[in-house]
Amino acid sequence: MTVSEEAFEQFRAGVGMLSEMAPPATERTDEERVRIFKNTVIKKIMPHEAMDLETCVHCGMCAEACHYYVATEDPKYTPIRKLELTRRVYQREVSPNRWLRRLLTRDITAQELEAWQELVYDSCTECGRCSLICPMGIHIAEMVALTREGLANASLAVDEQRAMSHEQGQRGTMFGMGSDSLVQAAQVLKQKGIDVPLDQPQAEILVVTSVIEMTLFTDALEGTAKIMNKLGCSWTVSTCGYEAANFGYMAGYSGYHRAAAMRVIEAAIAVGAKTVIIPECGHSYPALRWDGAAAYGKPLPFEVVAISEFIGREIKAGNLKVNKIPAAGKVTYHDPCKLGRVGGVFDEPREALQALGVDLSEVSPNRAQSYCCGGGAGNFLIRRAAPLRAKVWELKRGQFEDAGADRVVTSCASCRINFMAGAADTHWEKPIESLVALVGANLAD
Ligand code: SF4
Ligand code: SF4
Repeated sequence: MTVSEEAFEQFRAGVGMLSEMAPPATERTDEERVRIFKNTVIKKIMPHEAMDLETCVHCGMCAEACHYYVATEDPKYTPIRKLELTRRVYQREVSPNRWLRRLLTRDITAQELEAWQELVYDSCTECGRCSLICPMGIHIAEMVALTREGLANASLAVDEQRAMSHEQGQRGTMFGMGSDSLVQAAQVLKQKGIDVPLDQPQAEILVVTSVIEMTLFTDALEGTAKIMNKLGCSWTVSTCGYEAANFGYMAGYSGYHRAAAMRVIEAAIAVGAKTVIIPECGHSYPALRWDGAAAYGKPLPFEVVAISEFIGREIKAGNLKVNKIPAAGKVTYHDPCKLGRVGGVFDEPREALQALGVDLSEVSPNRAQSYCCGGGAGNFLIRRAAPLRAKVWELKRGQFEDAGADRVVTSCASCRINFMAGAADTHWEKPIESLVALVGANLAD
């Protein structure tokens, strides 16, 4: 099942206007920006991150791990370089020998903060591949997130992510759409005979969705509803806490992250859910599964599971039966970074594809070593980063072609958007599909 070219181009056009829609950033002097950035790093840096900054041996191996460096060979995209300002603040303000380091290092400047915006928003997707390759295991993605938070606090978040974060954080809508869009999407599915039980008073499972699934990738929402109904689950979607995407989390606005996470957490608690199912939306998974507890202030009273993880488990347990897809051709599965490398969800999507009887052809590298799609962590929203994404697409397309893929399946809307954009711009005709949509469309009677 694929999305119409027209709908996809409309979506891209809407995203392309985000920077014009962004509210003006708070006016700040250079001194204020520097002070706020420094205070964020000083306050938020964790002991293990400080240790990381002390242990970098400057080997440069992380460069070859990063899709932006590999795709461009530009040394400015070397992962550890993206932490340079955070490292200097740590050295001069936090480290045990800060007095000496103040003599040996320069203070950061507002101009450097502005220059680093491109390095941590446009050319880092917080994919975590560099940490896997780094011999010291340095948590680069985690500290890029800290750097983003410092920039966001200093009113230097990139426009598009600021627009989305403010809208979600202050109005609770996305692209101007709120819970009425969910109700409408459920009505459309009802007309097709697919029930989406909204606002049930009690349910074992709370399913969250996203504005992308309500508007563009409706096949994924449809697939999810069909699967839940086929399994006979006690499930609901809450109009009070249905949005999985968390733009505050991506952009570095901790208050907005908390507000968006709490809507889902409170909705889950209200219905007594034991499980919350996250849709095909990569960053939503860590935003709730691990960082949701930080928002809540204590461990979450439910399990957080990605939809592809859930499907794979149910197929493996024999609870969900699917038909084999006739003449499916060679299928390759792209591991979304947050689900795979971060969450360890590798086998479950492959269980589902094998049950569908496809000829699974892996790209190289795959699983934990898989390269990012190039558009995660909100990068796909950033207009000026389009040329970089196009270069990463060439890298990924080469891998898909080497695998002989007739179709590409993934389980993250950001990955799907990036691949569809790359494919459209380079006239690559192979379908880019959603795992949940594929399973939902091939359920056995
Ligand atoms: S691979 Fe690790 S130790 Fe080597 S330069 Fe990069 S961050 Fe530093
Ligand atoms: S986290 Fe990913 S995108 Fe960011 S620097 Fe590391 S490899 Fe590059």
